[in-house]
Amino acid sequence: MSLRIRPDLATVPAYVPGKTFPGAVKLASNEIIEGPLPSVQQAIVDAVSGLNRYPDNGMVELTERLAQSLGVSTEEIQTGCGSVSLCQNMITVTSGVGDEVLFGWRSFETYPLATRIVGATPVQIPLTDELVYDLRAMAAAITDRTRLIFVCNANNPTGTVVEAEELLWFLRQVPADIPVILDEAYVEYMRPTDAQRYDAMDLRRRFPNLVVLRTFSKAYGLAGLRVGYAVADPQVIDALRRVHVPFSVSTVAQRAAIASLDAGAELLERTDTVVAERTRVRDELVALGYRVPPSQSNFVWVPLGESTADFATACVAAGVIVRPFAGDGVRVTVTDKSENDTFLDFARDWASGTDTGGASR
Ligand SMILES: *Cc1c(COP(=O)(O)O)cnc(C)c1O
Repeated sequence: MSLRIRPDLATVPAYVPGKTFPGAVKLASNEIIEGPLPSVQQAIVDAVSGLNRYPDNGMVELTERLAQSLGVSTEEIQTGCGSVSLCQNMITVTSGVGDEVLFGWRSFETYPLATRIVGATPVQIPLTDELVYDLRAMAAAITDRTRLIFVCNANNPTGTVVEAEELLWFLRQVPADIPVILDEAYVEYMRPTDAQRYDAMDLRRRFPNLVVLRTFSKAYGLAGLRVGYAVADPQVIDALRRVHVPFSVSTVAQRAAIASLDAGAELLERTDTVVAERTRVRDELVALGYRVPPSQSNFVWVPLGESTADFATACVAAGVIVRPFAGDGVRVTVTDKSENDTFLDFARDWASGTDTGGASR
């Protein structure tokens, strides 16, 4: 007898994590290669002896530290078990069956999955020809069923960013009662041009419906500990607190996040290396004939269309795991020179036809 599980869930595809194998160069999940700093490791070790106790469910100290560093009040911050949990919770507090959640596509895989989990309808607006969020088309797609909007900036997986003027224009178009999430998971890697530069906290103050999402998983290097946070109007934060899964941000995670803020300057310095490498990797790929949009993140996007799967398979055979999106392209994390060179060696062979992974091109 089949159990009474919601039948609509059967059609929701499961999240597919980046895979790995021993010895592989893993460029599939936008992680950094350095482990936690000694000071962060010490904070983790120190937290271990207290693990018989539940975590601080109010995440008070971490919230205070974040509020301080962002210049906002603690009522404007909610931390969560990774910012994916905050994406999911924002959908939960805004949307139900028949409601629409609007975002660009291709974009972060979590958006359509989390939308369908609550029975809402994902409305996916194609990126522009430059693979940038098409905010004009998104504004035109807002209906009376729209309950939530995601703007992923820089966009995962294309690495592209919107122009600041476009973002401002868009925020003015959106009805004031529809929350807009500005997902800035890669904000520490942004080196915006003047046209791309905006102050997210300033926009937050001007647009009470704006929710800024950030994470400790990327530049801060704590992907394994699961801490992200939302900066939003107290009304939104209050709703997020109501649906927060109790104790889902562990004591270890909270302590490590605080220690990472303490070491912020040192951690953020590392992003310069990645930024320099992403320019080098992109330039080299473009010289080899690949199309690669300019990236403001720690990865590059290589649109390969129908050869995506073959490329990714051959790449794995060469010892490098990238993230394929079948029929569309591959996302390749940028790390250090040596790992990036391993990927570039493969990309060079593939471009010259010497490594086709046994596939026809
Ligand atoms: C990685 C990522 C996140 C969040 O990751 P967490 O580890 O859950 O904090 C959120 N949004 C985008 C676009 C990402 O790429």
